Amino acid sequence: MANTAQAVCRLCRREGGKLFLKGERCYSRKCAFERRSYAPGQHGQSVTGKVKEYGLQLRAKQKMRRIYGVRERQFKLYMDEAVRQPGVTGENLMQQLEIRLDNVIYRLGLAVSRAQARELVSHGHFTVNGRKVNTPSFQVKPGYVIEVKEASRSLQPITAAIDSSAGVRLPAWLEADYEKRQGKVTKIPAREEIDTQVEETLIVEFYSR
Ligand code: SF4
Repeated sequence: MANTAQAVCRLCRREGGKLFLKGERCYSRKCAFERRSYAPGQHGQSVTGKVKEYGLQLRAKQKMRRIYGVRERQFKLYMDEAVRQPGVTGENLMQQLEIRLDNVIYRLGLAVSRAQARELVSHGHFTVNGRKVNTPSFQVKPGYVIEVKEASRSLQPITAAIDSSAGVRLPAWLEADYEKRQGKVTKIPAREEIDTQVEETLIVEFYSR
């Protein structure tokens, strides 16, 4: 039976690209996708590149869902909301995923992965505008201040994440003050400011079928 690291890494191999689900390991030579960039399973290496249109759309949806760690049902709710909103549906979808609290904490460099950010939020280590929030899917808005709770400021995973993100450029829509263990959302990111490598138009097509 695969251990947890292998099980998570299988998702990258299944999607044919690095989803960066394991923090620092993803940037090291231990990355499973670097060593075996073919699909998992007995026939993984014999899978041909010929994938039908529906398959491409399905894979794009699964890839996006796995990158952000969102369950099927919640992902569909994001999609429904993206359709309702004015503007470009695919961009709306990506914006909703980006402004999830767990993603913002990951983007700020206060956690090494979205999964770790999710766990830290669930355990009540963060506040938003001074109030404790333990819902990873909480949607932040421009002007919101995210802060590590006073009692959690020296927490090892948070200090380690800050150390490992030193020198990494912050997305243009975020500001951080690591001394204060604090970050701020300055605006909703435009599509070109989101570096997630998934063709969101394929996902829109998937749900339009
Ligand atoms: Fe595993 Fe590499 Fe994917 Fe990270 S990027 S989850 S180490 S396969």
